[in-house]
Amino acid sequence: MKDKLVYSGKAKNLYSTDNDDELLMVYKDQATSLNGKNKKTIEGKGLLNFQITNIIFDYLQTNGIKTHFISNLDDKSQIVHKTEVIPLELVVRNKIAGSFAKKFNLQRGLKLKYPVIEFYYKNDELDDPFINDSQIFAIDLMSNEEMSFLKNEALKINDLLMPYFDSKNLDLIDFKLEFGRFENSIILVDEFSPDNCRLWDKSTGDSLDKDVFRNSTGSLIDSYKEVLKRLVEY
Ligand code: UDP
Repeated sequence: MKDKLVYSGKAKNLYSTDNDDELLMVYKDQATSLNGKNKKTIEGKGLLNFQITNIIFDYLQTNGIKTHFISNLDDKSQIVHKTEVIPLELVVRNKIAGSFAKKFNLQRGLKLKYPVIEFYYKNDELDDPFINDSQIFAIDLMSNEEMSFLKNEALKINDLLMPYFDSKNLDLIDFKLEFGRFENSIILVDEFSPDNCRLWDKSTGDSLDKDVFRNSTGSLIDSYKEVLKRLVEY
């Protein structure tokens, strides 16, 4: 089944399959920060992100969000639709943290008046620079219609996930999404895990996401396990 490696990312590998329209996505036991400059193998991370993404994508799909997910193959790999990747990362923010806090020198944890949407151009050599709507249109990365759809879809996803995580006693601070073109529509690709979102325990304010690795404040595996436990049990 597993064929040629077609893409090796920081947290996942993509392989071609017998079907030209599908890819095999395998989650790695690798954690990175500083855009890949800091790397570490953490046993069990791939499986946790695989399990968490499955739960979130299933929830989103059930609520009308189209995703690339087709089926699971084993406990670290899944079959997904092959899409034409849009080289943008879309970040949604509900509260101030990370680069936003730094950029505007604002207090971490403050609630934003309304959700902020930002785009970053996916390019490791350039460290994924910020890109605005006008730049996106000018270098032909997306059409106006696609932009409207993406922003709408991102806010819809936020409206679904905020109450969902809240019911698990988790505060969804911000998250990153990626999308691809597939059969005349745009679908959600990549993953949704504590690698690409910020989740704070509502009772203690503790981070239960990749910030524990970025800032060396705790065990990544214990934090991700706690997230999974709440998604399954609550
Ligand atoms: N994020 C991501 N990949 C990136 C950059 C950011 O998944 O290459 C996520 C990050 O985990 C957080 C959100 O996007 O949930 C906003 O990140 P921010 O811009 O604050 O940057 P960071 O502080 O992570 O450098």
